[in-house]
Amino acid sequence: MYIISSSNMLKKAYSEKYAVPAFNVHNLETMQVIVETVAQYQSPVILAATPGTYSYAGVENVIAIAEALAKKHRVPLAVHLDHHESYNDIVNKINLGIRSVMIDGSHHPFDENVEIVKKVVEYAHRFDVSVEAELGRLGGVEDDLVVDSKDALYTSPAQAVEFIERTGIDSLAVAIGTAHGMYESEPKLDFDRLAEINSRVDIPLVLHGASGIPERDVRRCIENGISKVNVATELKIAFSDALKQYFAENPNANDPRHYMQPAKAAMKEIVEKIINTCGCAGKL
Ligand SMILES: [Zn+2]
Repeated sequence: MYIISSSNMLKKAYSEKYAVPAFNVHNLETMQVIVETVAQYQSPVILAATPGTYSYAGVENVIAIAEALAKKHRVPLAVHLDHHESYNDIVNKINLGIRSVMIDGSHHPFDENVEIVKKVVEYAHRFDVSVEAELGRLGGVEDDLVVDSKDALYTSPAQAVEFIERTGIDSLAVAIGTAHGMYESEPKLDFDRLAEINSRVDIPLVLHGASGIPERDVRRCIENGISKVNVATELKIAFSDALKQYFAENPNANDPRHYMQPAKAAMKEIVEKIINTCGCAGKL
């Protein structure tokens, strides 16, 4: 069992007050860097990918690479469906071996969000697949998902209680002022809201849009129930900036075994930084 559910790893993180990083992956190299680094630090990890990434890379390929890396490095991995919206798509991917899913019904009215999430939970739990759902809306852009930041709605603590009771989810993504993508100015997170949600619910909470949030703020979130920290944009920027710099300095380079190395090294630094922020080293 190398590809596992994220349920137990998040419960442990929640009770011991650290967070499991969920890193968005896109290809072989990004998966190599993350798994090698978490093995080095003996950290739990979630490899996440959006529907667009699974279409690009192939869900079977992502699972096969994750499985091979998990075996090689002796690290169990959760391979996660990030921001999936379609029940049929989720069912198909569970059938292919995915054991950790996010059903994002947050753009639906509350009762519709409950209905679709409940349906996913009923299917997923038969196969010991963990389910994350989102209540409230994040600003920013993730794949083709665009939310006007002015219209982003924060999570209501009372609704969070009802939502968890009615759906039976394993973890809840909260909207407390983070957004997808990098921030133009330092975001103001609603810590009071997060603390209130955490005092009223007893499942691990998830922070989306952590790229560019100051370390002290992420730590404060972890003290208040955040057990999974999602990082995508920061990794992509480090990887692509190093690649661009390498090609600027070596315009005739054409060997991926060479030009991918600085990109991987730059990404590894971000992975190490996030592991440190999350306090998850040695928690495997
Ligand atoms: Zn997200």
